[in-house]
Amino acid sequence: MGKDNIGRDVLTFLAGNLLDPTPMNYRFGYLYLTRSSKVICEETDTYIENGMRMKQETIVEIMGKHASASDDPEERIAARDEAVELFLNTAGELAREAKRQADGVGRDIAEESQVIREGAQGEDLTGAIRRIIDRAEEAERELSNASNRIDRLQRDLDEARNKALVDELTGIPNRRATRATIQDLEIRKVRYCLGLIDIDHFKAINDTYGHPVGDRALKLVAEALSESLAPWPVARWGGEEFLVIAEVPDAKKLAERVAEAKETLAERNLKLRETDEPMGPITFSAGVAVNSETSDETLRRADNALYEAKKAGRNTVLIAPESGRVADAA
Ligand code: GH3
Ligand code: MG
Ligand code: MG
Repeated sequence: MGKDNIGRDVLTFLAGNLLDPTPMNYRFGYLYLTRSSKVICEETDTYIENGMRMKQETIVEIMGKHASASDDPEERIAARDEAVELFLNTAGELAREAKRQADGVGRDIAEESQVIREGAQGEDLTGAIRRIIDRAEEAERELSNASNRIDRLQRDLDEARNKALVDELTGIPNRRATRATIQDLEIRKVRYCLGLIDIDHFKAINDTYGHPVGDRALKLVAEALSESLAPWPVARWGGEEFLVIAEVPDAKKLAERVAEAKETLAERNLKLRETDEPMGPITFSAGVAVNSETSDETLRRADNALYEAKKAGRNTVLIAPESGRVADAA
């Protein structure tokens, strides 16, 4: 299969499976035929080996699995967009179908009622009544099927949306979700503060106890921070860094709460699950900044304050000077 003709091959493959050449289907076919996604190849091979035709629903499912298995956030976002598109298309189609059916039921029942109204007797009458009941029951079943399909699509949609905005390891919002939250604050033109939190010597935890323990520590810190700083949302900014967003005008207020969260975390008696061996406290450093003109600038100031906190010996929370005073400080 030549690379040059891959486009044509993908379209032939789609046509052979009676699939529309939509962007998602094309991407599916491309990833399958170029064998560039393990998940897609394994799943699809099974279907094809069993001589089954690929259905649209199967592709959506496989592409969903591919997106979940992928580290690439773009891939997850694409999966979410596709779920939205599929939801809207199917919901529209189902709504039209429901309308058609309701019209059909109305017509059928009207016809039977006419028979009754015209004075049907005996078997004619019971037959008409029976048919009305059957028709109504059939309509109810169809409606319930449609509503189950909508529910399933809704769940898929929620799941896909969730995947695009939630950090997989810790289950808290990811950087992308945070961007949206900050944008919302900027649109509303409110004063807010950001706190950038970075675990101290985290590399040593990985090096000493191994990566899986490091992962568990990250989950634990994510939970502890979310709990201590609630209702302010805490997101995983990346690696061993977290970001808290507080809709307060005063950086001191957030810095105090972050410092308290730091004490609470340090007081926890952490033990290794396997050996019960004590692990020593986890500490972090943080930089807090009240918002500047732009969120990029606010983040930059929080990051500078974090850097200063690390330089000052870690296990420290520092407040960034307000934007106007950065030049003085330099
Ligand atoms: P500092 O006090 O200066 O912040 O030191 P540090 O060791 O915390 O910082 P450094 O940036 O040197 O190391 C961060 C480490 O975090 C390195 C990286 O392997 C680890 N890390 C990042 N993401 C994950 C993850 O998802 N799981 C695990 N286990 N480790 C991670
Ligand atoms: Mg770091
Ligand atoms: Mg660190």
